[in-house]
Amino acid sequence: MSDVIVIGSGVIGTSIAYHLARDGANVTLLDQAFDAATKPAATWASAGGLRSQGRHAEDQPITKLAAARWKTLSEELDADLEVSFGGHLHIAETESEVPVIEQRFASDTAAGLPIEKVEGNRLRAIAPALTENAIVGAYTAGDGQAHPGRTARAFARAAARLGTKTIFGQAATVKMDGGKASGVVLADGTILSSGQLILATGAWSIDLLSKLGIALPLRWRGLQMLLSDMAEKMLAPTVTAVGRNLSLKQTPSGEFMIGGRWIAAPAPTGIGSNCVDAHVARQWSGAAAILPALRSRKLAQAWSGVEAQSIDSLPFIGRTRIGGLYLAAGFSNHGFQISPQIGACVASDILTGQEPLLAPFAPHRHDGIDPAKVSAFIAESIAC
Ligand SMILES: Cc1cc2nc3c(=O)[nH]c(=O)nc-3n(C[C@H](O)[C@H](O)[C@H](O)COP(=O)(O)OP(=O)(O)OC[C@H]3O[C@@H](n4cnc5c(N)ncnc54)[C@H](O)[C@@H]3O)c2cc1C
Repeated sequence: MSDVIVIGSGVIGTSIAYHLARDGANVTLLDQAFDAATKPAATWASAGGLRSQGRHAEDQPITKLAAARWKTLSEELDADLEVSFGGHLHIAETESEVPVIEQRFASDTAAGLPIEKVEGNRLRAIAPALTENAIVGAYTAGDGQAHPGRTARAFARAAARLGTKTIFGQAATVKMDGGKASGVVLADGTILSSGQLILATGAWSIDLLSKLGIALPLRWRGLQMLLSDMAEKMLAPTVTAVGRNLSLKQTPSGEFMIGGRWIAAPAPTGIGSNCVDAHVARQWSGAAAILPALRSRKLAQAWSGVEAQSIDSLPFIGRTRIGGLYLAAGFSNHGFQISPQIGACVASDILTGQEPLLAPFAPHRHDGIDPAKVSAFIAESIAC
């Protein structure tokens, strides 16, 4: 019997398993896939941006702690996570967009984040290859990027070195006994018992929860990413823009990675998604409008992965109404940056019974919400 079973080896489940094992728990980590962070999981698809600016107020304390963790995480996990700190730059291209930058600058400064409002020569020095149309930006020099798949696998392997048992290639369902979650049943019929079961199951959480009679305002969507061929290094920060669905960065090996919440088509069956050609074209041209050098580059790869999104864009983290069942899902397209600290906080919550930083994310915080609102949220088609 394990103290804790974690279902899901994306970056959230693996971080939780690592921190629990580090803090002395006897842990089992499971995934239906053959390794941590595989297609079509969010962690596999993720852009890997480490952005501390423009976060929800509820996220900010964890974001700050996570930003500090990223500085030494490769050493801590003894793995190359491809972490780099080129900053994050959020730009306005028109006068009417400038107040959005000013608002972000004011609220993040008030929250104690080291953020700079940049324009003119300072803006050009940070990102000389950007369009002349970028007139002002909010810049956080300490932000950066890392490799999500490597990070999840490094957490899983570090957890295993600390004694965590890892089981891949078997889907798990929750085993109930006397109204409580007592463990899991694996696809081959094996039963594993645990004192505490954690669902870190991303987009799959909705179905697992509904089988247990838990309905939360959660939906899943496929999001698509593009990668160019390799180019000379010319872009240090990750760039986002007020007026565009865009996140643009250059990887340490020179490719341009283009995201920005472009929706992919749901797979015909099951949980998965496929890139939409029309979105690929507009995603690429939007990035090329910001970085003219992209016009002479080629698209090398396009992919999409699935992510669970909550109605308020905040994750659901904490004990559910079912005894023994803990949830950590719904990271709503911005869970990678906070993943190291989410693992630390969940371990502390499980092992000590309290973690104040997780209070805003209580799974049942929307109890009593108008069902019509939830239906509209779930059915909403997100135009790009
Ligand atoms: C395209 C894209 C770009 C993104 N870019 C960024 C970014 O730049 N910065 C940022 O901070 N965040 C970003 N995000 C968000 C971030 O990547 C996610 O919030 C994070 O990866 C979520 O991790 P997870 O572990 O919760 O879920 P997942 O990575 O989806 O992992 C869930 C795992 O659970 C397993 N599982 C599910 N059900 C079962 C079962 N029954 N039995 C066994 N295993 C099961 C799945 O196989 C899967 O491996 C992005 C997301 C996407 C999709």
